[in-house]
Amino acid sequence: MNLDNVQQSMQTANNPILPPATIGIIAGGQLGRMMGIAARQMGYKLAVLEPGKDSPLAQIADIEINADYDDRVGLEELLVISDVVTYEFENIPFATIKEVIAADFGYLPQGHLPLKITQNRLREKNSVVESGFKTAPYADVSDETKLRAALDEIGYPSILKTVSGGYDGKGQWRLKSEADLPEALEVIKQAECILEGFVPFDKEISVIVARSTKGEVKTFPIFENEHIDGILHLTSIPAKISDTVEAKAHALAKELIANLDLVGTLAIEVFVVGDEVLVNEMAPRPHNSGHLTIDACNVSQFEQHLRAVCGLPLIEPEMIRPAVMVNLLGQHVSYALDMWKTERFSQGHLHLYGKDENIRDRKVGHLTFCDKDIGRLQQAVSAFLKDFPA
Ligand code: AMP
Repeated sequence: MNLDNVQQSMQTANNPILPPATIGIIAGGQLGRMMGIAARQMGYKLAVLEPGKDSPLAQIADIEINADYDDRVGLEELLVISDVVTYEFENIPFATIKEVIAADFGYLPQGHLPLKITQNRLREKNSVVESGFKTAPYADVSDETKLRAALDEIGYPSILKTVSGGYDGKGQWRLKSEADLPEALEVIKQAECILEGFVPFDKEISVIVARSTKGEVKTFPIFENEHIDGILHLTSIPAKISDTVEAKAHALAKELIANLDLVGTLAIEVFVVGDEVLVNEMAPRPHNSGHLTIDACNVSQFEQHLRAVCGLPLIEPEMIRPAVMVNLLGQHVSYALDMWKTERFSQGHLHLYGKDENIRDRKVGHLTFCDKDIGRLQQAVSAFLKDFPA
């Protein structure tokens, strides 16, 4: 277990960062906004670094720095004006973050290592396997010889994924048979890729874990996820999984966050096959599948994340009531509002992210339905989704 970040942070752990200190957040999307709302509630001040003006987080922040994520001047300014800095996005060049941490302009306890590992699928999968956990079979396919060898080994169906930059199912190509090989050969000329075996999973779950500057580690209840076209559609708690799967998911989360020496939040997407768990992806930040913690748990993933980076004690997460979160993409907003304004669906907790346009397939909000009666909850969600636009 690597304890460098924890040890470096000991002084802060002994002296937690208290409100009204300033929390600096790199990237100003919906995760930053919901982190910011939790920070505001506790009385912290907020600074954001984001290239575009008036981002979802900037709308509620005290200080807005408009600069690229790897702009040294902008990052240094954010570190100087903030008591603690955190990132809500993993595609920030890790080398720049490493440099600004080393230059000691400020305090960024999350560290650069989680970025280095999770922004590259090959490094990410290697680190999961080195930690002793399973993934789908995978191979580096940076040239034609490697791709052909990997297809011989892994076979069809399989998935070609870009090593970096893909998200929400983007940068992925399903290979069903040899007929898809010419396209795959074209793809690997354009971008560095890995080949992954297709996992015939029973269900997809995720586990979110936080680790504080003191080395305290707490996992959230397991979430059950449903995707459409690679984009998260629904998340539910409690997840309908066996005790064995639940125990394995909690255990792998605790081990992986320690091995990444991550202070903050780690979200791990997992395929469940029988009683086996296979790690699909990791994100070193709060995650879309954890949004329902705001309305359904005793602590939200955002508050817990802030507690972790500020050196405060973590809360033992508990589900207060069963819940289902429905993601709202650009094409869903007007339908969702039409339903939500009626008495039947007004109990859904609405979260809109303040994005300037409702672009198709872009995450612009979510609705969380909660009910202590799971049957009634499922009925309400099914009725809400009856004519949900594709
Ligand atoms: P990802 O961007 O890698 O999280 O992929 C998005 C979604 O595509 C996942 O949540 C799965 O539903 C599906 N998917 C990705 N990789 C695989 C795989 N190896 N086997 C089966 N389904 C997959």
